[in-house]
Amino acid sequence: MWLNGCSSSTASTDPAPELTAGNTVFMTTFADVVSKVKTATGVSITSAQAPKTIVLTCSDSRVPPELIFNKTLGDLFVIRVAGNVLDKDQLASIEYAVEHNWATKIIILGHSQCGAVKEAVVSWKNTKSATYVPVGTTKMENLDYLVGKIYPRVIAARAAFPTYTSLTASGANLWEAAVDNNTDHIYEQLVLENEIVKEALADSSKALKNVIKAKYDITTGKVTFQ
Ligand SMILES: [Zn+2]
Repeated sequence: MWLNGCSSSTASTDPAPELTAGNTVFMTTFADVVSKVKTATGVSITSAQAPKTIVLTCSDSRVPPELIFNKTLGDLFVIRVAGNVLDKDQLASIEYAVEHNWATKIIILGHSQCGAVKEAVVSWKNTKSATYVPVGTTKMENLDYLVGKIYPRVIAARAAFPTYTSLTASGANLWEAAVDNNTDHIYEQLVLENEIVKEALADSSKALKNVIKAKYDITTGKVTFQ
C-alpha cells in the first residue's frame, strides 16, 4: 500500500510504473554485479559495504555520481543535498563513513549552473544586501535556511571578483564564482574544522588520505579536480 496524497491506494495500482520498469531492468543485472563486487576482505556487498570514496554533491538530477564516475554498487558513499551544503546531518553521514575506515578520499563535487547557488545569487542581485534576504514572499522556511547558508559564498565571490555581477555572462559569472567559493568553503569546513576528518587525515593508520574539490560541467559531462 502506498500513500497517495491524503488517501491510500492498494498495491494493485503501481504508483510509479516508469520506475518499476527501470527496476525490472536493473534486476536483470543485479546478481551479476553482486557476484563481481566484493569488499576488500572478500565479503559480498549483499552483507557489507566498504566504499573507497565518499562523495558530497548536489541533489540536482543531472549530477548522479555513480553515472558520472562510471561506478557501481558498493563503490561510492554518497551524500546529496541541494547546493552540497554541510549541516549536521551531512557531517554525520561523512563522519559515519570516515569512522568505518573504508574510504581513502572525500570528493566535494560542485557543479555548474547549481540552482541552489543561483537562488543566493538572485537574492544578492535583487537586494545587494550583506545578509541573506529570501527571494519572493512564499514562506519556504527550510529552503531559506539552506540558501541562507550559501549566501555568504556569493558575498565572498563578489569580494574575490568585484566586477562579476552576472548570472551567466562569460568572464563575469558571479554564479559560477559562487559555486566555486561554495566548494572551497565546504572543503575548509571538512579539513580545517571537522575533528573526525582532521584526525583521520593526520593519522597514517587511517584509510582517509585526501579531501578533494571537484566541479562537474553540466554541459560537457567533464569533472575537473580543483
Ligand atoms: Zn546544484
